Amino acid sequence: MKGTAEELARADEARHLAAIENAIMEANAQELIITVGNHTRTLRERPVTFRCEWCSNQGTEMRLPGPPPRYHTECKQEAQNSIAKGRMKRMREKKTAKLPDGMVPATRQPEDLHQ
Ligand SMILES: [Zn+2]
Repeated sequence: MKGTAEELARADEARHLAAIENAIMEANAQELIITVGNHTRTLRERPVTFRCEWCSNQGTEMRLPGPPPRYHTECKQEAQNSIAKGRMKRMREKKTAKLPDGMVPATRQPEDLHQ
């Protein structure tokens, strides 16, 4: 497929804008200086493109070297809240699922406490 001159110009402009955006992000990058004994390591943030597991959109964020993030900064709190809620729900279901109908969880008798 052959694009028109206008399409090519637009794609070129988009590439150019993305390059400028990356350059600005890199210029604002935070540096983390780690000193271990006599060694000093400087970790510098760089733009990392990843797919957010929460909203499944792609995003680019400044991150220190390491594994890419799983969520956008703005999605992380929501995702973690949801995960915590889901875990509590499963725990509650597990607790009650084991008891047959009409049975209540056994409670410790006072004499047990003295053993
Ligand atoms: Zn997200």
